[in-house]
Amino acid sequence: MDITFWGVRGSYPVPGASTVRYGGQTSCVEVRSASRACVIVDAGTGLRALGNKLARESGGAPGNYNVLLSHVHWDHVQGLPFFSPAYIPGTTISVYALLTAANELDQVVGGITRHEFFPMPLEAVPASFQFHQVEPGVERMLGEFKVTPIALNHPFGSIGYRIDADGSSWAYVSDTAPFDQVLHKQHFLAGLEPLTTDDRTALAAMRSALVARLRGVHTAVYDTHFTPDEYARFPHYGHSTPDQALEVCAEAGVRRLVLYHHAPSHTDDQMDQIAATYAALGKTRGVDVVTACEGMTLAIGQVGAPRAPGAA
Ligand SMILES: [Zn+2]
Ligand SMILES: [Zn+2]
Repeated sequence: MDITFWGVRGSYPVPGASTVRYGGQTSCVEVRSASRACVIVDAGTGLRALGNKLARESGGAPGNYNVLLSHVHWDHVQGLPFFSPAYIPGTTISVYALLTAANELDQVVGGITRHEFFPMPLEAVPASFQFHQVEPGVERMLGEFKVTPIALNHPFGSIGYRIDADGSSWAYVSDTAPFDQVLHKQHFLAGLEPLTTDDRTALAAMRSALVARLRGVHTAVYDTHFTPDEYARFPHYGHSTPDQALEVCAEAGVRRLVLYHHAPSHTDDQMDQIAATYAALGKTRGVDVVTACEGMTLAIGQVGAPRAPGAA
């Protein structure tokens, strides 16, 4: 299995001179098995270029596409109306999302393409869109891919995915805050309320379920939006730091951590510093830390393969 990053930013796209090397498009990852079967994770603005590539590869023929959404914040769905295969008659696009969001997912996606916002409403698009609910912990097979949804701590909830295929395994963990404030049920301002005992128990259970799902994965792509200084100012926004991601990954024995969902304000030079700092820190914790950039493809190693000294 390998994964290719088409969008690595959080919040909103930031194309421009200061983001040329790491990229300015929002969340989107293409996943390929050894037989080149495909699944797409998140549909931020990076999806547009991926869709163009997929349409070229198919020669304009209809196909079936699976899109796993972490949640429906703009930076994770804004590419959907610009996904070229949606305009090829006979194509089916299956969209998977969190139970609470998916209850109205057709209306959510339909809403962003209402005629006030977009010239082609969802019901007029030639492809057939099918919406499916996912539930944390309930595995499903999408062709060759075994997909396990994981509950995350983000305003109104978000879903991570562990994806297993070809004897290799990786996880997509975005968007999520660490597990010391309740964010997943409500608007982020409510996360500032003092914690009850039940809250503490629920957060601890959420964190241990995440660590348990990450055990045995080779690579974790993780929301590391904030530096520690920024996190201290915005702890209720629903995002993590590389330190918090490293803590979880080291505990779960993850081989490689990929820093992802970069803050839109981080320039290429700042990203270089972050990448160097955490590559060094990762070495001290036995985790290879790499920083996602647009266009990067990573091969996912075999589960349980012995670690060669200095190997990725
Ligand atoms: Zn996001
Ligand atoms: Zn979000």
